[in-house]
Parts: sequence; structure tokens; C-alpha cells
Amino acid sequence: MAKVFCIANQKGGVGKTTTAVNLAAGLSLAKQRVLLVDLDPQGNATMGCGIDKRNLKHTVYQVLVGLASVTESTVAADGFDVLPANRELAGAEVEMVEFEAREIKLREALAEVDDQYDFILIDCPPALSLLTLNALCCANGVVIPMQCEYYALEGLSDLVNTIKQVCKNLNPNLTIIGLLRVMFDPRMTLAQQVSEQLEKHFGSKVFSTIIPRNVRLAEAPSYGVPGVLFDKTSKGAKAYLKFANEMVARVGLPVAA
Ligand code: ADP
Ligand code: MG
Repeated sequence: MAKVFCIANQKGGVGKTTTAVNLAAGLSLAKQRVLLVDLDPQGNATMGCGIDKRNLKHTVYQVLVGLASVTESTVAADGFDVLPANRELAGAEVEMVEFEAREIKLREALAEVDDQYDFILIDCPPALSLLTLNALCCANGVVIPMQCEYYALEGLSDLVNTIKQVCKNLNPNLTIIGLLRVMFDPRMTLAQQVSEQLEKHFGSKVFSTIIPRNVRLAEAPSYGVPGVLFDKTSKGAKAYLKFANEMVARVGLPVAA
């Protein structure tokens, strides 16, 4: 049985995609079978894994509206599989409004490949939308990347409340696996302060690994390669590999199918 995690935060530009792509690559380096689901119409995770989002027969859009299976829509990346996305996905939200049980379409579709992967990671869009709800409904847990800045905590309560609601009404298995501090700049006093505040409020829910701001991580997507593979010696790559190990330690390895 695959363990399913979504990388969520309704803010844009907070490091969700970078975390999803590098965690997928990091887990695959640890010999885990990984499927990365791109659930953002921007298709950044797709492109960041070296898959051209403009030339795809099937994407997660077709899967959600019932026109294709996960297996026939999946593309191989370097060491792991990707269920890609492009701008077509923006239409899914509107079309799915008419569907019955529209919040569990992704869950139903992923059940088909459950025994083929150890980990399924879902890169969420920057909104608490029907797409994000679909991700939350199939996940065992949520990883929340956060920048340690003044507005970081704002909006977090909305996300936490949404997770609580989903847990109560739709997916009792859902938990917050942890908050991940990303794009961290230790020279900024404010970053230090917010980081301490997070630890104080959320305790062990805060991952001990901190992802530094690192230009190699930002450069990697333009080469279509995850940062952990692009420059293994960079501080960013090392941090994401450490995080992948911390994730495994925190959630355990899936039971072999
Ligand atoms: P989101 O998916 O939440 O919108 P992204 O992962 O796309 O966020 O990150 C936003 C931008 O910040 C991207 O240009 C990305 O390359 C860059 N970025 C993300 N993490 C880091 C980091 N640790 N160091 C430097 N740049 C980063
Ligand atoms: Mg993104």
C-alpha cells in the first residue's frame, strides 16, 4: 500500500513544488517507488522533472474527469514517475462541479496504482480549492512548507482548519505530518524569530531539517532536473536529502505490497 502525502499551502511561491519534486527524487534515491502527482495547472512540477507540459496526450486532468486512467497518463522521470499537469487542469474545477462525489475523484483514480508505489506525493495548487480538497481526501498526511517571514503564520490557521474539516467529514486518516521551514536565510533576524515562534507553537510538528535559500535549487527547474540530482553537493540538495530521510523516519516505510 502506498503512503500518500500532499504538499500544501494556499500561498503561492512558498516552496511547495520545490519540496514535492525534491522529496520525490530524494525518496527515489532511497530506493523507494515514487509517483509524483502534479495537481497545479501551472505544471511547474511537471516541467521541473524534465517533462514538457505542452506535449502531453494525457494529464491528471483527463484522470479527474474520467477520460483516462492513471497508468496511461503517467510519465517516467529520472528515478520516479510523474502524473503530469498543464493549464487544461484549470478547467477540471468547473467541470467537476457537476460530478457526484467530486472531492474523491483523485482518490478513486489513485486506488488503481496503490500497490505499484511506496509513496505518492501530490503537489497542490496555491488555493484551498476543489483540487486541493481532492488531494486532502486521498492523503495520509500533509506536509506544509513555510517561509519564515512576517506573514507566514497568516493563512496557516485557514489551512489547519480545512485539514480538520476534511479529517472530520471526508478523510479520518488525515494528519499534518509536519511544517517544513524553507528558503531559510539565517542572517535574517526575522527569519530566526519566526522559526522560533513556529517551534514554540507547533513543537514536534516542525521538521528539524531546515531548507536554506540556495540558488542551485532555484536554477535546477530550468534544466528540468530536481535540485537533489542537479547539484548533489549544494547545500540545498543536502538539506532536501536530509528531509527525505526525516520524512521516512517520521512516517515509516510502507508495508510491502
Ligand atoms: P510554490 O510551488 O509554493 O509556488 P515554488 O517551489 O515554485 O513554490 O518556489 C517558488 C520560487 O522559489 C521558485 O522560483 C523556486 O525555484 C524558488 N525556490 C524554492 N525553494 C527555494 C530555495 N530553498 N532556495 C532558493 N530558491 C527557492
Ligand atoms: Mg507550485
